[in-house]
Amino acid sequence: MAAATTRKPTLVQSVIAQLTVEHAKTAVFWYVVYYRALALWRHVRARGISASVSGLYLALVKRVFAVVLLIPSARRKVKAELDTVTLDLETKLAPPHPSLPRALTLPAEGLSSEALSEALTALSAMPNTQWEDGRVSGAVYHGGEEMGKVWTEAMSKFIVSNPLHCDVFPGVRKMDSEVVSMCLSLFNSPLPTSAIDEAGGAGTTTSGGTESILMACKAYRDRARIERGITEPEMIVPLSAHAAFEKASQYFKMKIHFIPVDRETRKVNLKLVKRAINPNTIMLVGSAPNFPDGAIDDIAGLSKLALKYNLALHVDCCLGSFLVPFLEKAGYPSDPFDFRVPGVTSISCDTHKYGFAPKGSSVIMYRSKALRKYQYSVTTTWPGGVYATPSIAGSRPGAVIAGAWASMHKMGVDGYTSSCREIVGAAKQIVLGIRKDFPELKVLGDPLVSVVAFESVDEEVPVYEVGDKMGGLGWHLNALQSPPALHIACTRLTVPVVSDFLRDLRIAVDEVKASTEKGKGSMVMLYGLGSSSAVGPGLVEQLASRYMDVLYA
Ligand SMILES: *Cc1c(COP(=O)(O)O)cnc(C)c1O
Repeated sequence: MAAATTRKPTLVQSVIAQLTVEHAKTAVFWYVVYYRALALWRHVRARGISASVSGLYLALVKRVFAVVLLIPSARRKVKAELDTVTLDLETKLAPPHPSLPRALTLPAEGLSSEALSEALTALSAMPNTQWEDGRVSGAVYHGGEEMGKVWTEAMSKFIVSNPLHCDVFPGVRKMDSEVVSMCLSLFNSPLPTSAIDEAGGAGTTTSGGTESILMACKAYRDRARIERGITEPEMIVPLSAHAAFEKASQYFKMKIHFIPVDRETRKVNLKLVKRAINPNTIMLVGSAPNFPDGAIDDIAGLSKLALKYNLALHVDCCLGSFLVPFLEKAGYPSDPFDFRVPGVTSISCDTHKYGFAPKGSSVIMYRSKALRKYQYSVTTTWPGGVYATPSIAGSRPGAVIAGAWASMHKMGVDGYTSSCREIVGAAKQIVLGIRKDFPELKVLGDPLVSVVAFESVDEEVPVYEVGDKMGGLGWHLNALQSPPALHIACTRLTVPVVSDFLRDLRIAVDEVKASTEKGKGSMVMLYGLGSSSAVGPGLVEQLASRYMDVLYA
């Protein structure tokens, strides 16, 4: 002991000890600097300088807004403004019912069947936008007169079923797996012959397009972590892609780079996609078609990049679902979009849109079972037992699966082909009509499917104002931002009213032109705020959450 304490370290030893500590400090310092610089470099490289600067500005403005709100007087002022708008929204969206009281507590005694039926009738008759006459863009993807009966029968037969208990409800399990198989073959994936066959595609059903997209992102995140050790995953997404990808990035902590689309074709700019790829990139995204303007991204081009850089490529065919696979059969031009494109690794397809299934039904497909495995969630230590679920939900409505299965069987290849012919035909008539008779407007891109978007090329005709006038004429169009535009997503209900649409659009445009006092349209209130004023972005965020408060008022 004594010998050990008295032995002095040699000069070399103490130098090494000192050097090591100093070196370690320096190394850590430079590692952090290098790491930060690399992240910054990748960020700026992916987005370009001007988008990086404006992104920084936006983040800063939001932060400042949040700080300003800490000042009581500012908070009071903003709150007062928001309260006014919220009350306004509440009277519009959640007015008191003339005869039905607000049910804020359980009835002390259960209602009789008659009373219940009366209440339900009154609720379903609450005045709403008349979607039946085809003037609402998207929203109701109607499968025709008889589909209601098909749903009612299928769903009522499986009303209590739950695929979580597949041994109790074998019929639902069978239909669930067949819905997926039918979609896989529709998107030209080979099917495995059994549960142990590693070849061929695989998928699951989900509650909707959003969940399908979330699941693909989650699967790729987990795969990248396990197979490649990537802990800070990034995805590269067209600016025109569905908001669900940003939701996935929020939920799953994945960095998202938005890539602009070409001004004319509205397809994502492949050069910029390529520039955004770095060693943390795990997935690319393309839409077939996208929601805002209905353009189909260059899936073959994205596929080349995905293969070259060994990335996943998700094709969002939620909206295209049962239209795009039938374009050729219906006699229309198409673009490559499915598993025949070699780099495509997953596809989301909404049975509850143009598949005409009841709401709450979508399918996520992968090129292989090995990919699907990363979507699964398994917990082995839960006191309730080993718990394994393929998607987000635990219990799931078997009735919706039965509804989807029955819709697909009711339609068949012939049914979907003719509905594609009609719906896409209606969209094409609208495109032609606008191009021929509306020099004031310009159709965005070259829509191949059901969505037609148009902007104004005439200063005298602010496009949101046209949207307001169309609203006055009973039409419900979607307002788009960047560029300001309107769109209509054609459904079967639009088919008989195409000429009414073009006639009313003429009236709306002429009225806007003739009016001396031009507003900018009520949509501008929201979108204009977002981009033009410094408090805008923060305020819009708060306004949007007030909107959700109203939904549960
Ligand atoms: C509708 C849609 C989705 C998913 O929407 P859900 O409302 O969650 O079903 C995804 N992508 C596109 C392009 C869509 O139009």
